[in-house]
Amino acid sequence: MDKHDISSLKQLLSTKKKIVLVPHKNPDGDAIGSTLGLYHYLLKGNHQVNVIAPNDYPNFLKWIPGEDSILKYDSQTKICDTLINEADLIFTLDFNAFHRTGNMETVLAESKAIKIMIDHHQAPEDYATYMFSDVSMSSTCEMVYHFINFLDGTDLIDATIATCLYVGIMTDTGSFRFPCTTSKTHEIVAHLIEKGANNADIHNHVFDTNSYKSLQLLGCALTNLKVVPESRTAYITLSQEELNRYDYKKGDTEGIVNYGLSLEHVVLAAIFIEDKQEGIIKISLRSKGDFSVNDVARTHFNGGGHINAAGGKSYLSLKDTVEKFISILPSYNKALNHE
Ligand code: 5GP
Ligand code: MN
Repeated sequence: MDKHDISSLKQLLSTKKKIVLVPHKNPDGDAIGSTLGLYHYLLKGNHQVNVIAPNDYPNFLKWIPGEDSILKYDSQTKICDTLINEADLIFTLDFNAFHRTGNMETVLAESKAIKIMIDHHQAPEDYATYMFSDVSMSSTCEMVYHFINFLDGTDLIDATIATCLYVGIMTDTGSFRFPCTTSKTHEIVAHLIEKGANNADIHNHVFDTNSYKSLQLLGCALTNLKVVPESRTAYITLSQEELNRYDYKKGDTEGIVNYGLSLEHVVLAAIFIEDKQEGIIKISLRSKGDFSVNDVARTHFNGGGHINAAGGKSYLSLKDTVEKFISILPSYNKALNHE
């Protein structure tokens, strides 16, 4: 974001605006944290601000300050359409292509509002007037912190904003351990704690909310874990029947893919989760080092993401999806064994 963009944004935000903030579909901690952090900041500027999420999100995010004011497009479509059509500014956070908002794609594409993208994924689409896109950033929450700083608003960061932003930095960095975590990330996090983010409480809210059944589901996933040693790959499957058996709720499978990556020598981990309602297999991919799962997701599984964390989907059966995955592994063996 250059000086010119920053000064025009300052100018735009100097008078009261109708603003809509949008995270991606199936929002995660970074998507919700960044939209709510920016929401609280913009409210201080006396704007009319609404957060519209394409759909619902897991219970472990349903305590973040302001989350009860988030509108859900899939169940409140009419009011959301009106707000989007009347908006002066639309901020899109933690995604960079409209199709990542599911059913909101058309109304967003057709809206006349000025669009501002804040995002850290690869290959941004060209829909935004103001684009703050940086793949080197740990999280969109870290970028919202920088964005507030660009607007000379750092002094306005209070415990509420700090809490929201801490959530996304914590979740997208795997609690500050992924390579995307920089010294700058730690500096920002230190500042957020100074401003009143309670790190221990936030960690408990997000990570210590297992139910007995969700731990049993984890047990099932670990039982299903398979390793392909020659490709240094581990993968997990969860069928719809298994999800039903353990009373699956949104969020219960979050983070399970990382267990594969915790195996010695493994540099690529995948999880395949059957979703009969949507008629897809949801795929999450994780890697270590410079092996790009973004490439794998983009080339083979209708998805994308980052070098070390990406997602996608398959319209094949669970069995055929896994077969396809295993069949493409040899083409990556050189890169996988190079780590
Ligand atoms: P997850 O595996 O946690 O769903 O996603 C990992 C990363 O990949 C996240 O940053 C997420 O935004 C991105 N991602 C997940 N699914 C998709 C997808 O279908 N398309 C694209 N472009 N990115 C995805
Ligand atoms: Mn993110």
